[in-house]
Amino acid sequence: MRTGKPALAGALAGALAILAAPALAQENFISIGTGAVTGVYYPTGGAICRMMSRTRAEHGIRCAVESTGGSVYNVNAVRSGELEFGVAQSDVQFKALEGEGTFAEQGAYPELRSVFSLHPEPFTVVARADAGIADFEDLKGKRVNVGNPGSGQRDTMEVLMGELGWTMGDFTLTSELQAGEQSQALCDNNIDAMVYTVGHPSGSIQEATTACEAVLVNVAGEAVDKLVDEHPYYRKATIPGGMYRGNAEDVQTFGVGATLVTSANTPDDVVYALVKAVFSDIEQFRGLHPAFAELDPAEMVSDGLSAPLHPGAEKYFREAGLIQ
Ligand code: GLU
Repeated sequence: MRTGKPALAGALAGALAILAAPALAQENFISIGTGAVTGVYYPTGGAICRMMSRTRAEHGIRCAVESTGGSVYNVNAVRSGELEFGVAQSDVQFKALEGEGTFAEQGAYPELRSVFSLHPEPFTVVARADAGIADFEDLKGKRVNVGNPGSGQRDTMEVLMGELGWTMGDFTLTSELQAGEQSQALCDNNIDAMVYTVGHPSGSIQEATTACEAVLVNVAGEAVDKLVDEHPYYRKATIPGGMYRGNAEDVQTFGVGATLVTSANTPDDVVYALVKAVFSDIEQFRGLHPAFAELDPAEMVSDGLSAPLHPGAEKYFREAGLIQ
């Protein structure tokens, strides 16, 4: 804006200086990138913020949750500085740090820092009961939602397909619906199957198995064995029977773990306050989502964390005797 009036320009500069001054205020506000609202990341972000707001008098930080496209999006948003924290699959954390796979073009991200790990996330395939799909191999020739770009499940799906030598052309139709949209697409008979790397129980799978007849599908065999053998971040997983309507049997698959990540640029005291808020009342935190039932602090400080621990997290873990 040019007014030609120095006095006004001066006043304007003064006002801008005031606006720019509270760098502290900005540090006192954090956002956590999560996933679809019917996934587990979104309530996870909510649970972390809830723990932080209970202790706000101590640290003065306001915490907000953002629904996003998922893991890959979250890591990229942390990298660009758009978000301070993000929930990300352990495999995505590893690849982002190293600049592998979907991150090959951007290159390594050595400033990525891990904060702690969370719940296990089995690669979950759900099919319409009338589609004749019992195993992953049966997806050939079907209509499949392969996950939106930016999601963790899209990444896991592409890795598994690569191992099997499949291409998108092996399906009669591929869609890239967001995680939060796929259950309805399944029940509307627009797709035969959906994939979701997600904790259990999750709202999305509950939706698919209650709004219509839907079955969880086994993902096993040589290709899966090979992936698990060759990559430290993959492991075999079982989705217990009886968790969802119409699915009484255990389902075999493989999976990863959910983790919380941030940037090396996030101030130590901010990360410290977040970690302390969660870990100083882990009982309460566990009660905030059924997928957290098995969370064990001793595992949360190391499991699936390939990026270095953020110093703020490290400081708390040392104080709490969780690491040496
Ligand atoms: N694992 C999924 C992803 O990385 C998100 C799962 C969730 O929202 O709970 O995109």
